[in-house]
Amino acid sequence: VSTLPIVEIIGPTVQGEGPRLGRRTALIRLGGCNLTCAGCDTPYAWKQGGQSTPMTIPTIAEHLVSLIVVTLDEVGDGQLTVNRPFHQVVITGGEPLLHQGSDVFRELVVSLLAGGISVEIETNGTIVPAPWFMPRLLIGEDTVGVSFVASPKLVGSLASDTLSKRINPAALRWFTNNPGNTFKIVCRTIDDVQTVGRWADTNGIPRHKIWIMAEGATWSDHITRARCLADSVLAEGMNVSTRLHLALWPEQMRGH
Ligand code: SF4
Repeated sequence: VSTLPIVEIIGPTVQGEGPRLGRRTALIRLGGCNLTCAGCDTPYAWKQGGQSTPMTIPTIAEHLVSLIVVTLDEVGDGQLTVNRPFHQVVITGGEPLLHQGSDVFRELVVSLLAGGISVEIETNGTIVPAPWFMPRLLIGEDTVGVSFVASPKLVGSLASDTLSKRINPAALRWFTNNPGNTFKIVCRTIDDVQTVGRWADTNGIPRHKIWIMAEGATWSDHITRARCLADSVLAEGMNVSTRLHLALWPEQMRGH
């Protein structure tokens, strides 16, 4: 197959969640998922086959370029103005690692790295990444590379599939043992936060690598719950993530 199923390509936007929250980025959402979480905020990426379009590398590149170039018409003064390019692209889903066997996925990631653009992959943490994700390149003074934010579905409304389907110990070990990767875990209650802390200790995952994000599909629901959880998250030695995109663009659903 010489295409990837693309649900949407967005940008410039910000990474709304996790350790790189607020960072300027483009976001590529791939279709398909191996889980069926009841509380999924992007069912359009996978339900009933998902709403994706098969795209080749040149088409994906065209979309990315169109996000950073202001056209003559939009500027209106005869000048072609190019915005600052992206330094990071987030690849999310659905579950993007379902497509790691695709040459197109590999070519996309390798081309972005070669262009000095780091890649953050948001995954549900159930699939061990292929070895080809590992190269890190030194471009100028910046290291560019691939980092993973794994979101195992441990508690709350996302933990609706069977345990054996949503938790893969081998994959979690991989994300823990390879440098630069982090975890983002959605919680509803203080009890959930404490459960995650104990789970991390049992599985040898350093707590400082975990960002706890309060469940909530609207900014008001999310931030109300986040305020209830924040002190407990800090007391448990973990980090807090909000869902910034819900505050900035309340009319749109973005993120994983
Ligand atoms: S893993 Fe992510 S995309 Fe897949 S069903 Fe769960 S929340 Fe939705």
